[in-house]
Amino acid sequence: MQDVHDAIIVGGRVAGTATALLLARAGRRVLVLERGRYGSDTLSTHAFMRGGVMQLGRFGLLDALVAAGTPPVRRTVIRYGDTEQVVAVRPSPYVDALYAPRRSLLDRVLADAAIAAGAEVRFATTVTELLHADDGAVVGVRGHDAQGRRFEARAPITIGADGLRSRVAREVGALTYRRGQHATGMVLSYLSGLEVDGYQWLYGSGASAGLIPTNDGLVCAWVGLPADRFRSALRGRPDHGLVDGFAEVAPDWAARVADARRHGPVRGFPGVPGFLRQPWGRGWALVGDASHFKDPLTTHGMTDALRDAELLARAVLEGEGSPARLEAALVDYHATRDRLSLPLFEAADRVAAFDWELGALRELLLDVSAAMRPELDHLAGLEPMSVAQPVAA
Ligand SMILES: Cc1cc2nc3c(=O)[nH]c(=O)nc-3n(C[C@H](O)[C@H](O)[C@H](O)COP(=O)(O)OP(=O)(O)OC[C@H]3O[C@@H](n4cnc5c(N)ncnc54)[C@H](O)[C@@H]3O)c2cc1C
Repeated sequence: MQDVHDAIIVGGRVAGTATALLLARAGRRVLVLERGRYGSDTLSTHAFMRGGVMQLGRFGLLDALVAAGTPPVRRTVIRYGDTEQVVAVRPSPYVDALYAPRRSLLDRVLADAAIAAGAEVRFATTVTELLHADDGAVVGVRGHDAQGRRFEARAPITIGADGLRSRVAREVGALTYRRGQHATGMVLSYLSGLEVDGYQWLYGSGASAGLIPTNDGLVCAWVGLPADRFRSALRGRPDHGLVDGFAEVAPDWAARVADARRHGPVRGFPGVPGFLRQPWGRGWALVGDASHFKDPLTTHGMTDALRDAELLARAVLEGEGSPARLEAALVDYHATRDRLSLPLFEAADRVAAFDWELGALRELLLDVSAAMRPELDHLAGLEPMSVAQPVAA
């Protein structure tokens, strides 16, 4: 039997399942192939920015995350050395507060919603190669399930939502035309018994730290360092980095972080400079980290993934009917992605340089904040794609 779909999506986390959800709600036959297990965790500090919360609301998923106990974040505390700035989260349409759901919850809620909308989501399934027509266009994928059973699936468009080290991007030779100069290495862990009101972004000279309230009464505590310092100081001993990082950046938090009960190991991310890739070609498109990656210090990757899931789903639907229409819609997707992403990409790269004086950092973070405005305006100007059905957690 032919395994034929309207769209195949490689990767079933934030970008992949959100794109699948929107296409499936529009009545398209969507196949999502995800190597990981259903509800599995992944490395993250979880913080959504306003645009991401707005997208979760527009997709009808916020209620499920709130019902699952994701704590509302009503203020952001930004500390530059000894100076502290507290910013209240201003309510706006779809955004009563910010949220930082655990990925094991968020990715499950997204997958459940995509499945409820009619998408077929196969977990523990790995795509190993792309199928091509004689003219080179991508026409589908080949892969295997957890038992090693091989399959082929075909669709007019194959979407790579397969993350930073995207196989789809590699196989199609997607051009990387912009690269960041800097990268933040991070260590993070989950702590209980800490009273943390809102997002805490803490900056010292050449290092940063943060505390982000997430599900189950836990706080995600992290320390960020320039990637070369991370490599020389922390590789192989991340435990050391978490407590010492807080001691360096925010001594008043250090003892509390050291004394808090730790849930799970301290995990490390060595840092990867940001990039923008060509996000489409004949028979293929990229979304999420596969398409562009920003330094995680600005905690914007998931927000952008949800934004671009909608931009891409709209382009795929608008482009139906002829290759020329699809090409025009994907050109537009690419241009909009770059217009909305580049200012933040550049600001994130400058923050990740860690060469700022604390006074100048304040200006830089204002640039980061200003760079989010066009994204919010753009999303606010789009009619929600379909009537959002609340999904139970
Ligand atoms: C340390 C760290 C902290 C971060 N903190 C934040 C934060 O606080 N806020 C924020 O917004 N962003 C944060 N980010 C960024 C955020 O995690 C990413 O932007 C987001 O996960 C991108 O989602 P995605 O769906 O594009 O990719 P991913 O989440 O990487 O998912 C890609 C999926 O594709 C699957 N896959 C890959 N290859 C194949 C294959 N061949 N076949 C089948 N499946 C495949 C993988 O199993 C994976 O599940 C952080 C990143 C890091 C590294």
